[in-house]
Amino acid sequence: MLLLDGKKLAKKMEEDLKNEVKELAEKNIKPKLVTVSTVHDDSSYSYIKSQKKVAQRIGIDFELLEIKPDQTFDVISELNQNENVHGIMLAHPVADDLDELKILKSIVPEKDVEGRSPENLGLLMLGKPSFLPCTAEAVVKILDEYGIDTKGKNITIVGRSTTVGKPLSMILLLRNYNATITVCHTGTRDLVEHTKMADIVIVAAGKAGLINANHLKEGSIVVDVGINFVNGKLVGDVDFESVKEMVNAITPVPGGVGPVTTTLLMKHVVDSAKGILSK
Ligand code: NAD
Repeated sequence: MLLLDGKKLAKKMEEDLKNEVKELAEKNIKPKLVTVSTVHDDSSYSYIKSQKKVAQRIGIDFELLEIKPDQTFDVISELNQNENVHGIMLAHPVADDLDELKILKSIVPEKDVEGRSPENLGLLMLGKPSFLPCTAEAVVKILDEYGIDTKGKNITIVGRSTTVGKPLSMILLLRNYNATITVCHTGTRDLVEHTKMADIVIVAAGKAGLINANHLKEGSIVVDVGINFVNGKLVGDVDFESVKEMVNAITPVPGGVGPVTTTLLMKHVVDSAKGILSK
């Protein structure tokens, strides 16, 4: 069984990014990411803290703006215009009285480094991707890194969220991935039927232990996006112990998709900063 080591990949990407940041510094550009938070949320805050750490390691400026909900559109407008800001992240969830979609629409697509704006999601749908949603991109980045060919393969994705399952299905339909995709969700009648026929199973449901050996065919490849806490321990959606003997390759949790997701967010910030040079 091959362990698809996301932590190792993220480290390698980080080294490349550090070099790119040095090259930008020679042109007096310092990439900057600003996270806008409209309400305090513990899990969002721990995600922000980990982003800050990675940004600092790479040499990206990181700023957290904790604002009052009624300041949101003025703050975004200022950040959109500020030439020293290259990425804007909207912390999720937003305050109750705010419309998240309206805020995402107000971020200029060139600074939407999370790939969550309607414009960037629409471009993916049209087969002309710009910034991709980081988690979905992290899955294909891991498959690419380990030379796992998706062309012509049957891939089953468990989960249809706008952040993971849905954009991932669109990415894997692009011609360079050319896979045949099945997307399962809470309305799926027989999950096993769809996971068992898949060459590659990607699970993003947020349900610990949802997938076990009974769900998979021998020699399949599994990417586990899930993040769950069970008795204080971080686990994925796949029962790793039950499937490890039968799969060809699998991502661990932790140390799989998570670190690659955060590093890709930083890559988008650096790419955005580089875009300024080409203007
Ligand atoms: P979500 O709750 O928005 O979506 C979950 C999806 O799973 C839904 O579409 C639902 O229909 C489907 N689902 C739930 N139970 C199911 C079942 N029993 N059978 C079939 N389908 C089922 O969650 P999300 O934001 O897409 O995140 C999914 C998981 O991925 C969560 O655990 C989340 O914490 C994790 N996540 C990880 C990263 C990372 O970087 N590793 C990033 C984002 C999300």
